[in-house]
Amino acid sequence: MTQQNIHIVPKVTLLGAGPGDPELLTLKGVKALQTANVVLYDALTNEALLDYAPAQAIKVYVGKRSGEHSHSQDAINQLMIDYALNYGHVVRLKGGDPFVFGRGYEELDFAVSYNVPVSVIPGVSSSIGVPALQQIPVTHRGLSESFWVITGTTTNGQISDDIYQAANSNATVVVLMGLKQLPKIAEAFKAAGKQQLPAAVVQNGSAENEKLIVSTVENIVARVQEEEIQAPALLIFGEVVSLHPSFKSVIAQHAAIS
Ligand code: SAH
Repeated sequence: MTQQNIHIVPKVTLLGAGPGDPELLTLKGVKALQTANVVLYDALTNEALLDYAPAQAIKVYVGKRSGEHSHSQDAINQLMIDYALNYGHVVRLKGGDPFVFGRGYEELDFAVSYNVPVSVIPGVSSSIGVPALQQIPVTHRGLSESFWVITGTTTNGQISDDIYQAANSNATVVVLMGLKQLPKIAEAFKAAGKQQLPAAVVQNGSAENEKLIVSTVENIVARVQEEEIQAPALLIFGEVVSLHPSFKSVIAQHAAIS
């Protein structure tokens, strides 16, 4: 039963934790954690960040790694409110940025429906930060005038129609949650005549066991299998990938074969 303790001032902070490296949290994020009564944290957030919260703060893992069904979104929403009403400041720590495929707005909306005030502290989204850490810019004068960030896995289990449209554009295309769908996504680029388009996959960007594969649309699926890439990983399609030093060896291999 959701019931408020009258001495408590409930509030929720939706906090972006960044892509994994704990030093990529913002200063504002550190300050929010320092005043947390409760921290609800996700699978893709670094547990080292919990050390910024007071020792007596309640820390609850509410992750939804694939295969785990411990916390539905409804259960997380309800927990967040129950903790806010009973303990005060709840920091909802989410991977990357809370509003980039993070379901952050659903949590904001739920809290607001209980009149619990919400602040949002943006985080470094993996969609831009992980390519940047590899020194792959998402835009570059003369190569890419825009970038798309698309989910590879839509709610109906199909790949998004946006991927077909993006594949026909000159934009840099970053796909999150797309590793399992990579074969279908690569087919979409091939159907657009983009076999030779540079493509990269980054596993666990900014964290331990970070791995980068640089290739072309034509060979990316085989390379990902060879290197046994695991989630979390993101896909980058676009001419900007050719700026990475290892792309030179991709071209050299290609020249040797043909
Ligand atoms: N809100 C997050 C994204 C959540 S969706 C953000 O802004 O980054 C989760 C997906 O993000 C993963 O399936 C993966 O595609 C990507 N992702 C998150 N962290 C990552 C990392 N460190 N390295 C590579 N991909 C990552």
